Amino acid sequence: MAIAERALVIGWDGAGWPLVDPLLAAGRLPHLAALIERGFAAPLRSTIPPVTPAAWTSMACGLNPGRTGVLGFRHLDLDRPSAFDPTLASSADLQGRTLFEHAAALGEPVSLAGWPMTWPPLPLPGGVVLAGWPRPRTEVAPTWPATLGRRLGPWGDGDPTPRWGEASAEQEIAAAAWYDRRHTEIACGWLRERTDALAAVVLPGTDHLAHLLWDEPRLAQHYERADDHLGALVDAAGPNTAVLLVSDHGFGPAPTRRVHLDRWLFQGGWQRLAVESRGGRSLVGAAASAVRHGLPDRAWGELRDRLPPRLRRWAYERSAPQAAVDLSRTAATRVELYESFVGVRVADPGRCEGLLDALRAEPWVERAWTREELFSGPFLTTRVPHLIVELDPDVGAGSSVGEGAVVEAVPPEELVAWPATHRRTGIAVGAGPGIGSQPPTDAGVEDVIATALALVGVPLPDDLDGRVWTESIDATPTFVERGPQGGGGGRGPSDPSLERSLRKLGYLRST
Ligand SMILES: [Zn+2]
Repeated sequence: MAIAERALVIGWDGAGWPLVDPLLAAGRLPHLAALIERGFAAPLRSTIPPVTPAAWTSMACGLNPGRTGVLGFRHLDLDRPSAFDPTLASSADLQGRTLFEHAAALGEPVSLAGWPMTWPPLPLPGGVVLAGWPRPRTEVAPTWPATLGRRLGPWGDGDPTPRWGEASAEQEIAAAAWYDRRHTEIACGWLRERTDALAAVVLPGTDHLAHLLWDEPRLAQHYERADDHLGALVDAAGPNTAVLLVSDHGFGPAPTRRVHLDRWLFQGGWQRLAVESRGGRSLVGAAASAVRHGLPDRAWGELRDRLPPRLRRWAYERSAPQAAVDLSRTAATRVELYESFVGVRVADPGRCEGLLDALRAEPWVERAWTREELFSGPFLTTRVPHLIVELDPDVGAGSSVGEGAVVEAVPPEELVAWPATHRRTGIAVGAGPGIGSQPPTDAGVEDVIATALALVGVPLPDDLDGRVWTESIDATPTFVERGPQGGGGGRGPSDPSLERSLRKLGYLRST
């Protein structure tokens, strides 16, 4: 096996084998089939929870979420009643800790086209960055260096989705196709013009459209477009480039039932409500809660976006369903993670003995762990709930508190609007110089960039959580001390239009 001159990482956001395999079998993804034919194909384990920001961040850094601090679109903050800080995760969380910056500091240039969580544009000395999703709509492509944006040509004018309000499925499809094509064109240009050690490009449309069009022929058609893009990228990269095609998580049908874990905690005696002390609640707080719960989610979101920042933060805490929980007398509360993954915050460990076993005994619980079993790092105690529960894939996490059914059916109209959701297993395919046909064993997202850099002989930091797939590649990794770590745990800018687009995809649901 020859040594690669360059590594190219291509991301198909949200691609999973249950969707991809039948399309391969039908001959509809010829470029992917050709890649697999000359290399390996494997499942790729996502983060817990398997959400876009957590997984791409762990991939970029080679670190588990206890060390990146990114477990979702918003920052968790266990010190707040809601357990959330209303700021969104962003490139401020990555800056100073990515393997891209590590390579750049060693004099190995990197290009990133649309890598998620790199907005505002991540500074990358010697390299080029087109910031990825989530990012606000701009007239000029958001890039580092900033002056590059204008030279990249058209930006945003092929996106027909209305700035405010809901887009039609046709508009969503056109926008996804446009951005995936532009990411590809920009990356192809860089592959031809530049001599980066590592180039990466991510197509976000495969994730967005899977949420909306699951089981529809139009989703398969979008995958055919992604396959055309794959062909163009492999062609532009040339024969001396090692190619890894990966996804951040997979997809599957949305749960048809939901479990209200706060109700379960309340009914099991782990949680107390503030109802008895309602006289002590301020009238305004009760009013905020009443307004929030009387409004549809979208109307509430639009109202909240117009509030000044301090009032917004206050409304945020007061309007969470858990505002009804009396935290001072409560042993445990639910922390929203994503769909079938839910956290439990233990307020009083002395009263939570047996809680983990009680959870594991429930038929709707697939697995449950203490946070120490899954994560490590400086954010373990501030941002990671004490217990992590993986529900049955057909069960999502609900947000109701107090009396009432613990398990409920999801209303049919919601299943029509949200037919699919994330699964923990994504895809990994590799081919090219230095890559063999043996698939990696138990491959995780935190391994991907470390493996790509090992293929081109770039030394890795010696404190990675991820590992190099030495069983699949013909390269022995070398290690150096990681440079001083800047950034991390940063506060990103807040942007109402971003929050709106995340709510539209169901990522910000309960508040
Ligand atoms: Zn994703």
